[in-house]
Amino acid sequence: MAQRHSVTIIGGGVIGLTTSFALWRAGHEVTLVEKQARIASGASRANGGQLSYRYVAPLASPSAPFEALSWLGRSGSPVALHPNADLHQWGWMARFLRSCTEARFRAASSALLTLALESQRELATWRDQGLSGFDWRQPGKLILYRHHASFAKAAKGLSDRQSQRLLTPAECAMIEPAFAALAPELAGGLFTDSEEVADCHAFCLKLRDAMQGHERFRLLHGSAALERSGTRCLVRLNGVPLPSNRVILAAGLASRELARPLGVGLPLYPLRGYSLTVTPPASSLPEVSVTDYDRRVVYARHGARLRIAAMVDIGKSGARGDERRLAQLRRLAQQTLPEAGPYDRAEAWAGERPATPDSVPIIERGPCDNLLFNVGHGALGFTLAPGSARRILSLVGETM
Ligand SMILES: Cc1cc2nc3c(=O)[nH]c(=O)nc-3n(C[C@H](O)[C@H](O)[C@H](O)COP(=O)(O)OP(=O)(O)OC[C@H]3O[C@@H](n4cnc5c(N)ncnc54)[C@H](O)[C@@H]3O)c2cc1C
Repeated sequence: MAQRHSVTIIGGGVIGLTTSFALWRAGHEVTLVEKQARIASGASRANGGQLSYRYVAPLASPSAPFEALSWLGRSGSPVALHPNADLHQWGWMARFLRSCTEARFRAASSALLTLALESQRELATWRDQGLSGFDWRQPGKLILYRHHASFAKAAKGLSDRQSQRLLTPAECAMIEPAFAALAPELAGGLFTDSEEVADCHAFCLKLRDAMQGHERFRLLHGSAALERSGTRCLVRLNGVPLPSNRVILAAGLASRELARPLGVGLPLYPLRGYSLTVTPPASSLPEVSVTDYDRRVVYARHGARLRIAAMVDIGKSGARGDERRLAQLRRLAQQTLPEAGPYDRAEAWAGERPATPDSVPIIERGPCDNLLFNVGHGALGFTLAPGSARRILSLVGETM
């Protein structure tokens, strides 16, 4: 390593933890600051757990505005818009709509695919070097299409014909027998054997455990704030200055408020989503990672448990209305995989994806000499985390 830096990372979710781990492995001195008493209790707590490297299409696509209109007011719809008087919401939505052109969609898809493949390689390196214990598997991903139009669109848009295989409904049932009863309702499927799954929360805990107790790592709990001091960024922890010669902002959604005193308006907006976790009988536990495309529901096995995640609520803040959305998710899961229930005993969770308008995360230098941003990973934070951390590692040497 050329030079060892003392780096403060703000935010103990999957992005802050992977960033800490990449820097710590490279020999830097790492201080991780987390506001909550427990790490990974925000968006990284109970997400779908799909490491979806080849399916990174941004939410803002040419068809997104029409799809959103067709879903308006439908019970259990994958996307729900809750307009409110918040100017930030309207500004974010305007930028989102501007990102829906074919050219911008292609540019964002390509940027995300590159970062996702970097992530897959980086995670493989970490695993090869002994990181384990987070239910990582490579069972492949099966996308099920209920409508002929969406299946035909998927068939046209394959990004990697070598690893992606189109399937008949009967072949879908063979690849994943737990979903066999659904075959008569399907138009077809798409299987990619290189896709992975893991438990994001367990992954975060393992990253912490790998660094914990080492002299170059410390984890501090408290609320960080940022301010300018000349050309540099100063961190305060619970109001007290925290000496650090490099600062990385990785606090998910809260990064927007944290960057505001530095004169930066980060374009982050919460997209609320939901998950259920059940422990089904072994015979109805799917092996492969499954996405029910037209309902946008994902199913991933983590050990003996099944995580079911879905829905994007735009502009809904706080827990009001969560019960209604969770009841809809229970109903969708019950219709699709009845034997995996009972769903009324499922562990329910709601989290907010920290999203940019075009879904591309912000991994770049901030407005101060010693500041970097690693924020805005939206619906793909777990997938993109190791690659994003690797990019931060190469940027750290360029900051002052
Ligand atoms: C329903 C759902 C399903 C999902 N499924 C998948 C999936 O299958 N695959 C995938 O790749 N991604 C998925 N995601 C997305 C993924 O969960 C997120 O992109 C990711 O967790 C974001 O991580 P983060 O570290 O940026 O944010 P967070 O996990 O929210 O972490 C930010 C941390 O910063 C801390 N913080 C905030 N303010 C301060 C402060 N002032 N000082 C110190 N600390 C502070 C917070 O307490 C928090 O711990 C899903 C998300 C949802 C909601």
